[in-house]
Amino acid sequence: MVGRRRFLGDLADMLGARQEQELVAVLVLRVPHIHEININYGYELADQVISEVQARVANALRDCDTVERLDESSFALVLPRLHGGAQAELAAAKIIQACKPRFIFGEHELSVQLAIGVALYPSDALDAAALLRCAELAAAQATDNPTDYGVYSPALEKRARSIHSYVLERALHEAIARDEIYLCLQPKIDLRSGTLVGAEALARWTRHNGEVVSPDIFIPLAERSSLIVQITMWTLNAALRSCGDYFERFPGFSVAVNLSPIALGDPDIFDFVSQAASIWCTDKCQLTLEITEGALIEDPEAAIAILDKFHSESIRLSIDDFGTGYSSLSQLGRLSVGELKIDKSFVMGVIDSERNAKIVRSVIDLAHNFGMTVVAEGIEDIETLQFLAGLGCDYGQGFFIGRPMTLDVFETWAAERAAEMSSAPAV
Ligand code: C2E
Ligand code: CA
Ligand code: CA
Repeated sequence: MVGRRRFLGDLADMLGARQEQELVAVLVLRVPHIHEININYGYELADQVISEVQARVANALRDCDTVERLDESSFALVLPRLHGGAQAELAAAKIIQACKPRFIFGEHELSVQLAIGVALYPSDALDAAALLRCAELAAAQATDNPTDYGVYSPALEKRARSIHSYVLERALHEAIARDEIYLCLQPKIDLRSGTLVGAEALARWTRHNGEVVSPDIFIPLAERSSLIVQITMWTLNAALRSCGDYFERFPGFSVAVNLSPIALGDPDIFDFVSQAASIWCTDKCQLTLEITEGALIEDPEAAIAILDKFHSESIRLSIDDFGTGYSSLSQLGRLSVGELKIDKSFVMGVIDSERNAKIVRSVIDLAHNFGMTVVAEGIEDIETLQFLAGLGCDYGQGFFIGRPMTLDVFETWAAERAAEMSSAPAV
């Protein structure tokens, strides 16, 4: 077995040395039932099956073609010097034909199914790794239809993505129980004094296999499958529990939890949130809920009603990503919201773009006219921080101040910040 890494190295060398007009095909050939053969007949017979497949394949190929074992159940074939894709398909059809006669080993007679995927260089991919991936994707398609071979097409990418999100969605169901979800806190400071005034709670997911799944992927997945309420409750409880100490050490500290539109529409959300705040907070304004502008537009009346309920409990409310959702001014006046959070897309360009600067200035004025405070997210440098402070923006959050941090890193950051503040009371 050469293994994947060596195969890719050899393939890259070969692609580099090819003639200008030459097409190269990579075929991935899988023996999908090899594990069943292993279980039913033992690994020795399974090994014999693999060797026999390799021999029959080699027999069906030209001298210049190569066949290498990739792993327990698959081979990679390289077919150089082709004139068109049809030649690669012909080879796939020949291999299927060659493996049709039953395999006979002593008293055992087996028929062996194959799944073959075909990809072409340079039309499908421009490097060895991408080419192998295309062929594997095509083979996965063929596994659903084992009498045939699959040819790579960009349409397979969409299907692969939907399979991937299905697999992820299932894994997400178990992620909380398996402790794969954890919390990060990103600091929020007062732009005039530089003191820590709160943190945004951001969920993170690292799967058991080490894959890090971005919240931009798993939050929408959770929304599709009603898991969002579970994740919101987990984040809320974890955030309030972890911040108990900060509520005492930093007067006015409030932890912000994101409430997605679907979570906001859940009939039990108010009771859940209110109960969690009763358990963990000495004052419910220690909790801020961030609600995106989009959530207010979909069903404004329902949103206004639930926001009023949170407000009557003294829970703070902030409109997240403000400026991206076109909410109307008349609506803004009716909301019991204390804070607008200017979207990072405006903040990040505020120094270079006069348009962004105008938007940011208007949002600050608008918020102050309605008696709200303003927080700018996405502050990545000192110039932006100083510019916003000069415009009268109240609070700031962003990589320049502090990235989202795991709880122990945040603890160190907060302690250092407090020490700096006591020796120099301005930013
Ligand atoms: P968001 O609520 O707008 O969160 C702020 C996002 O901006 C975070 O991304 C944060 O890492 C990122 N960010 C903060 N400062 C900067 C900066 O200076 N520059 C840049 N380029 N980015 C900055 P993250 O953590 O990847 O979260 C993405 C989105 O996922 C969040 O956007 C939020 O909508 C959602 N999300 C994250 N955690 C949760 C959660 O626990 N519950 C819900 N419902 N949504 C969550
Ligand atoms: Ca947010
Ligand atoms: Ca935001």
